[in-house]
Amino acid sequence: MDLRIGQGFDVHPWSDDPRRRLVLGGVEVAGERGLDGHSDADVLSHAVADALLGAAGLGDIGTHFPDTDARFRGADSLTLLADVIERLRADRWTVGNVDTTVILEAPKLAPHRAAMEDRLSAVVGGPVSVKAKRAEGLGALGRGEGVACFAVALLVR
Ligand SMILES: [Zn+2]
Repeated sequence: MDLRIGQGFDVHPWSDDPRRRLVLGGVEVAGERGLDGHSDADVLSHAVADALLGAAGLGDIGTHFPDTDARFRGADSLTLLADVIERLRADRWTVGNVDTTVILEAPKLAPHRAAMEDRLSAVVGGPVSVKAKRAEGLGALGRGEGVACFAVALLVR
């Protein structure tokens, strides 16, 4: 059995635009300000995509979906993630599992965690776990200036 591991990281600052929605793992967290970014700024899905691409040796999300490309403006990141999975499947990879840690001061993710795990698992075709962690007041994340996410992924073929 061929196994490959990958890690991904992403970070987005909060947006000043009141029209932007907060989307994490494909789940809209209603009533919260959104993150700034070219796509929907789904920091969780982006970290997962980079972990998967890294494990498969297929570059990174910026290579496949450049933020200079107007096609990806406001893009649904679950669609991008599904595209990544297609590329993996073309190389006969399946997802063993994905584990993630979202770093943010607020809002609390616990009420949305199961929905995020369900949506991400359905797209990647393997179990995805979502954990949340505060930065305890340290640095930009601790001051609540944005949201970061770490992800690791295991691929099997
Ligand atoms: Zn991103």
